[in-house]
Amino acid sequence: MGFFEKIKQGLSKTASSISSVFTASELDDDFYDDLEERLILADLGMDTTVKAVERLRLVVRDRRIKTVAEAREALREVLCDMLDVGDSALNLSTKPSVVLVIGVNGVGKTTTIGKIANQLHQAGKKVLLCAGDTFRAAAADQLEIWAKRAGADIVRHGEGADPAAVVFDSISAAKARGSDIIIVDTAGRLHNKANLMNELAKIDRVISRELPDASRETLLVLDATTGQNAVHQAEEFNKAAELTGIILTKLDGTAKGGIVIAISAGLGVPVKLVGVGEGIDDLIDFDRAAFLEAILPPAEQMTGDSENEEEGAEQE
Ligand code: GDP
Ligand code: MG
Repeated sequence: MGFFEKIKQGLSKTASSISSVFTASELDDDFYDDLEERLILADLGMDTTVKAVERLRLVVRDRRIKTVAEAREALREVLCDMLDVGDSALNLSTKPSVVLVIGVNGVGKTTTIGKIANQLHQAGKKVLLCAGDTFRAAAADQLEIWAKRAGADIVRHGEGADPAAVVFDSISAAKARGSDIIIVDTAGRLHNKANLMNELAKIDRVISRELPDASRETLLVLDATTGQNAVHQAEEFNKAAELTGIILTKLDGTAKGGIVIAISAGLGVPVKLVGVGEGIDDLIDFDRAAFLEAILPPAEQMTGDSENEEEGAEQE
């Protein structure tokens, strides 16, 4: 199943909510107010919504757009452009490459690492998992289960160990075993920002010293169902680390989807992977065009809408 099929169902409510705006007969203030409301409801957040609507107004003015159908296409362009903040492929070009996975508790870091490891293993790569969440012994146990399922190696220390020391040992092990990719799990303690920053900086120093030329990814995992809270987390982590990408989990749940745009546009960091379930295969590469198609399909794909547009639609 492709990206589009996997997310379309979950985002269908968002799609019909946004589409309903385009049953209006005129591009007046009511239209823009209604659109603003729908975009906020879709989890774009206030800032990104205001930006998107402002840009749409400009495009409508500059191109002398008169119909809602044209405005719909213009909004698709605006959102597509807001999502265009960089390559969504992982950069794993060196041997070994390092992938650091960060984020608060419960967002799905360990599960996602298992899924990534499995994909890489299937692609013939030798993967080593680093149990950098030393906060609870259960965290390393959980990672070890995923390592077995995914056919990856694991390096772990005891509970309470220094995460940077586990990273150091993982790098030594990867060099000795000829691993292609090291994926580092971390504990997500955002409540103590200074501590988090220190811990990430220390890990960063170890990697820079031991593997100065390695390709690096620092991926922030966010739970899409937590809406604007996830946007807030993204802002905080973006201050603590140089993020190269976002992994958005639980897009199979009640997520409204707009958070993808809020984060891309707000932080300028691309969404790279999307979690769509708890299973080992439930991780897919983010596809901008397909995502857009799921939340705002072209008018001709929304059955019934084109008729409404012509009749000038009575709402509700
Ligand atoms: P961590 O604390 O960040 O390491 O989070 P975990 O990997 O332990 O995951 C927390 C919970 O989220 C677990 O029950 C996972 O099965 C679940 N989870 C992770 N990713 C997804 C996803 O994409 N979809 C759904 N529905 N659940 C997920
Ligand atoms: Mg974990």
